[in-house]
Amino acid sequence: MGNIVAIVGRPNVGKSTLFNRLTESRHAIVDEEAGVTRDRLYGKAMWNGKEFSIIDTGGYAFNSDDFFEDEIKKQVVIAVEEADLIVFVVDVTSGITDYDEAVAELLRRSRKKVVLAVNKVDNASRDADAPIFYSLGIPDLFTISGINGSGTGDLLDFITENL
Ligand code: GDP
Ligand code: MG
Repeated sequence: MGNIVAIVGRPNVGKSTLFNRLTESRHAIVDEEAGVTRDRLYGKAMWNGKEFSIIDTGGYAFNSDDFFEDEIKKQVVIAVEEADLIVFVVDVTSGITDYDEAVAELLRRSRKKVVLAVNKVDNASRDADAPIFYSLGIPDLFTISGINGSGTGDLLDFITENL
């Protein structure tokens, strides 16, 4: 396997917060290729002595018109093409949305290694709302809080063991 991880998920689930936590964000750069909607963010992370790259694919300016079909696909296509492992982020406070279902289906079909990060589990009381996300069909599920860091060590262990 290679060593590139992509973070996907709909807006506001906490992709950038997680990206900043996992990377040494001072090293992050923005790829600004002229004329291309390619404002994904690259960073480097180190865990258990293993260095890997992380892509935040959520930098797109979402068009209200083609938000659902086209933008989902673009984000997932980038992730599938570029990454060796994909972190699919969802938001425990909003439950499963249509967008989450659509992304999950594309990811399952891609046959890439995918880990589901149920984010915003800031305290134990929110753990109870996490198991519903198993219905997305992605068995490797971690509850995390990008804001306070809980669960991110286990997620990083999984990532480095599967790269
Ligand atoms: P993105 O659009 O997926 O990149 O999401 P952002 O990282 O920009 O976060 C969207 C909002 O969710 C911001 O207000 C964050 O502060 C908030 N957020 C991100 N992670 C967490 C978390 O673990 N817990 C809580 N409570 N809020 C979070
Ligand atoms: Mg973002």
